[in-house]
Amino acid sequence: MSVTSDKAVRHFGDQLARAVETHRRRNPRSEAALQQLAQWLPGGDTRGTTWFEPFPLVIERAQGAEMVDLDQHQLVDFLGNYTSLVHGHRPAPVTAAIQEALERGTVFAAPLLEQGELASRLVGRIASVDLVRFTNSGTEANLLAANIARSVTGRQRVAVGEFSYHGGYEGLDWHNAGRSTGPVVFPANDVEGTIEALGDGRDLAAIFIELVQHAGGVMPTSPEYVEFLRDFTRESGALLVFDEVVTLRLAHGGRQEALGVAPDLTSMGKIIGGGLPIGAVGGGASVMESTSPQRGALLHNGTFNGNRLAMVAGAAALDLLDRSAIERINGLGDRLAEGIREAATARDLDVTVTSCGSLLTVHASPDVRTAAQGQAAASQPLRRLLHLKLLERGIFIAPRGEFVVSTAMDDNVIESALASIDRTFDDVST
Ligand code: PLP
Repeated sequence: MSVTSDKAVRHFGDQLARAVETHRRRNPRSEAALQQLAQWLPGGDTRGTTWFEPFPLVIERAQGAEMVDLDQHQLVDFLGNYTSLVHGHRPAPVTAAIQEALERGTVFAAPLLEQGELASRLVGRIASVDLVRFTNSGTEANLLAANIARSVTGRQRVAVGEFSYHGGYEGLDWHNAGRSTGPVVFPANDVEGTIEALGDGRDLAAIFIELVQHAGGVMPTSPEYVEFLRDFTRESGALLVFDEVVTLRLAHGGRQEALGVAPDLTSMGKIIGGGLPIGAVGGGASVMESTSPQRGALLHNGTFNGNRLAMVAGAAALDLLDRSAIERINGLGDRLAEGIREAATARDLDVTVTSCGSLLTVHASPDVRTAAQGQAAASQPLRRLLHLKLLERGIFIAPRGEFVVSTAMDDNVIESALASIDRTFDDVST
């Protein structure tokens, strides 16, 4: 069925109204809990991306790839806390490392050996990284990367791609283009458009780029474009920053290893904390030394930077995420993406699946090839309908249609999810 025709929009709209009613009927405890939480938390939560209409499910417990909500529905977690839980929930070696560390205290105003344990793993994996600084989130990592670039170049302005996401720092939010606090914005994956937006780039401290636009709908950045940015920044003197907060999971040395291009700085987060809050910036020694207290060029502080729990959890998680584990989940992601495409084709359901290894997004529109097209498709009622219907069948994904594969999954989990997706596509097509 062509999802954008008037008839289809009406059909999916009617189905969506029914799915919303079913969601309310099936989840009374979650709804009541959210009303209670809203007494103290704006909107009943403390994070924008967890919200969806009519209300999100409140999770009670989780293990491996499974979560259980307050109404005792079993859910297969295809989101993994927006990619950070690459081994699913409570992987035994990570939990054991946290428990052991708890016995010795969690955070001190002093260096810790465990910081070296995690940093050395990152240096060992990512060829462009000689030295590492830790933060408590990917947002803070990108803020630090911007500040390092400003300190090293003596320039102030930073540039980001349209539809990119680098966290909650307004200076890197493309929506703030043109505001005094906002970044310069360029069209990612478009060489000519980028040159038009950035000129010669000699006023820029840094160019930030996601190697797969993640929140932008899992749109891989083309290798040629990344090469172009490398040449452009060498020429202009701006630092090239790869935001690998999400894409580090895609290859042992990050997506930059797969593309064969080295940035000046890499921002990291999510998987490197083993499920606990974390962020990091890494790069060549000469650039990273700007944050050294001995040199004093740039003050970088943070009460919880490098806390012991995140350090040991991250080291244990990375040890589990070796090359074969990455290859396995990328293969499962490929199989899932292909299976969803086949299921949609079999029912003439005009959706697009964009994917890169263990990350994929189902867009409620045919022929989505860019983040802009993905964004336009996000308003289709089919997008919300698929999300609610998949939840009904126990498949927990991002409301925007994103699936994330973890090492807690295997062929059986993927095939059984595909069977649920088949039935969901049947439901919505009739
Ligand atoms: N960079 C990218 C590419 C992200 O996807 C995210 C979060 O989703 C961030 C940075 C921000 O990380 P955090 O949520 O840990 O602040």
